[in-house]
Amino acid sequence: MNIQMVDLKGQYSKIKPEIDKAIIDVIESTAFINGPEVKAFQSELQDYLKVKHVIPCANGTDALQIALMALGLKPGDEVITSNFTFAATVEVIGLLQLTPVLVDVDADTFCMDVEKLKKSITPQTKAIVPVHLFGQCANMEEIMKVAKEHHLFVVEDNAQAIGAEYTFSNGETKKAGTIGHIGTTSFFPSKNLGCYGDGGAIFTNDDNLASICHSIVNHGMGERYYYERLGVNSRLDSIQATILRIKLRELENYSAARNRAAAYYDKAFADVQQIKTPVRNPKSTHVFHQYTCVGCGVDHFALQKYLGEKGIPCMIYYPVPLHTQEAYKTPQMKDEDFEVTNELCKSVFSLPMHTELTEEQLKYITDSVKEFINK
Ligand SMILES: *Cc1c(COP(=O)(O)O)cnc(C)c1O
Repeated sequence: MNIQMVDLKGQYSKIKPEIDKAIIDVIESTAFINGPEVKAFQSELQDYLKVKHVIPCANGTDALQIALMALGLKPGDEVITSNFTFAATVEVIGLLQLTPVLVDVDADTFCMDVEKLKKSITPQTKAIVPVHLFGQCANMEEIMKVAKEHHLFVVEDNAQAIGAEYTFSNGETKKAGTIGHIGTTSFFPSKNLGCYGDGGAIFTNDDNLASICHSIVNHGMGERYYYERLGVNSRLDSIQATILRIKLRELENYSAARNRAAAYYDKAFADVQQIKTPVRNPKSTHVFHQYTCVGCGVDHFALQKYLGEKGIPCMIYYPVPLHTQEAYKTPQMKDEDFEVTNELCKSVFSLPMHTELTEEQLKYITDSVKEFINK
């Protein structure tokens, strides 16, 4: 059995004729950069997310950097984010000479702990970057409340949860990434909406922030050849955009397929005490970028090795807390403030999760995990 963490080949085979034609059409058109396919994708993504502006860019890390640049923060301003996330979130804060302040996460949802967020706010705090980790939203209603009270910007790192929907206590729903002042995403191939190379985007409902982001992605240019600010060169190319247009139409089906696989895993592990399956945030739908379990008394590296020998990939997202990383650690970050993150890094494991998993594969995976547990 050929099991992959993400089966991009299987997914491609189902849309191959359409994708191949679209790529050739772009090549024939030679409109490789900023062509009509990019504009069309931008507008279709705006409609899907129900957001006023989408600004495509080169990757998810750039999207975060550009979003933070647009806020006009000054060196030394503090930006609060989660300790349990992919490194890019913290990296861009440091690159802009802002001060990253890490907060611990909630043990059930792996997203920013709002009580600990409140305690991390100082007069220097200017922005919060919640991460919708593994495919469901952080507690955005509470985070927006805290932000409003302290006049802070909110930039949602939505690289892992595109398509997830958050429900506010008044019944209103919004798509992940469209709740804060700016949202960012990645179209890295293995993300839920992945292209066939690098890609990313920024979302906002704020006309002013949108126009600043449009200028930053294009060298800070306002009127042609007049540069109004420092910018970067960060573009989504037309071949990626044409692929994304096709895959955006499938995104709801893809999320449903991921949820079916998650439901199979949930059921298979329901009576396995050593495995804590993903806890759903009742305010958010889950798009299962990852199916991440917490092992109770399970050596996750030994499990990973055991599954590996049976041809089953298993990943540890994330094995090392960011506050202990050479690149980011500071004397202000104290180990005792990150109890949950420290524990998660020692116990989580992610099982294969993609749109093409068959029941036969899921049975083999879950049987193998149980075999290890009962060994
Ligand atoms: C993937 C990812 C990014 C970075 O996206 P790239 O397109 O690889 O630059 C940022 N944040 C999170 C949480 C991610 O998962």
